[in-house]
Amino acid sequence: MAEIQLRNLSKRWGSFVGVHEFDLTIADKEFLVLLGPSGCGKTTTMRMIAGLEDATEGDILVDGVRVNDLEPKDRDVAMVFQSYALYPNMNVYENIRFPLRVRGVDPKTHDEKVRRASAMVELDDFLHRKPAELSGGQRQRVALARAVVREPNVFLMDEPLSNLDAKLRVSTRAQIKNLSHELAVTTIYVTHDQIEAMTLADRVVIMKAGVVQQVGTPVDIYDHPANAFVASFIGNPAMNLMDGVIKGGAFTANNVKIAGLDAADGAVTLGFRAEDARVVESGGQINAPIYTMELLGDATMVSVRIGGALVSVKADKNYRAEIDDVVSIEVPKEQCHLFEAETGARIG
Ligand code: ATP
Repeated sequence: MAEIQLRNLSKRWGSFVGVHEFDLTIADKEFLVLLGPSGCGKTTTMRMIAGLEDATEGDILVDGVRVNDLEPKDRDVAMVFQSYALYPNMNVYENIRFPLRVRGVDPKTHDEKVRRASAMVELDDFLHRKPAELSGGQRQRVALARAVVREPNVFLMDEPLSNLDAKLRVSTRAQIKNLSHELAVTTIYVTHDQIEAMTLADRVVIMKAGVVQQVGTPVDIYDHPANAFVASFIGNPAMNLMDGVIKGGAFTANNVKIAGLDAADGAVTLGFRAEDARVVESGGQINAPIYTMELLGDATMVSVRIGGALVSVKADKNYRAEIDDVVSIEVPKEQCHLFEAETGARIG
């Protein structure tokens, strides 16, 4: 069992706020992803949970017990970092075994535990090798096995895939997901990659400048972003956003008019996703010259410029046109997201 409660957790260095009043309960066995741009406070939050950083204010509770004052080694957590920090002189077997030795686990159990952990990450055939004789992906798997072997109640993972190439990232990501499911361990995972967040998480926490912007399932956040920042951060490509005004239920901005919206008059940011709009022969609410086109294999991404913003729509994979041809884009009003212009907060 490991339910983690963060109660108004804050970290300040002088007047600089690294994390501001982080308040959340992470359920036993939950896979929680902290997502946000560089410097938003993800690693600091994780380090406070691990005990590597003191909280300025607030409490950390594991199964109802306050652990703020416990040493890192006395917290039942295992961390996996983006740098693997393996011991270069030890082979894979000894690297994986190391935490058992330090923790005084009964030596008679070591062999079985090491073999089970290494099998889980498919390293059985590499146990005799030194880290220098492994690829980056294999080294990261050793680091994973070293966390697994401890059988902790909590996994903390800080960008564990960021040193891997694109293909390995996908396969190692699948392995982490499978591991966390198999071991049923509470996991907190830090990334700035929204695809990683969406694919791995039970719930995602989106942070900006130390402040939590939204907590929700990947689908919740994708369908109902709490503000324009979250909308611009989730989804590939990011949600199209246009600044304009609502008058009489119609949004207008730079030759674009989308009528029939249920919103009060005022300045807003309107958003819609590329996959929710479509290219039509004529009569769409957006008519503009094509700025760029990208072939994605299963679709064609067509982009135009509205004011300063790039607005994209997913067209059929057989769509053919030239740059500067005028394209007509239909945006279903039901698929429009509205955010207050000044604060970015969702209004519809
Ligand atoms: P990244 O994705 O780049 O790792 P992050 O979201 O993990 O970013 P943190 O490492 O948590 O960000 O840092 C949050 C903020 O706190 C940053 O602006 C960082 O510069 C600042 N910070 C971190 N450690 C210290 C420190 N020891 N003293 C002062 N400021 C710090």
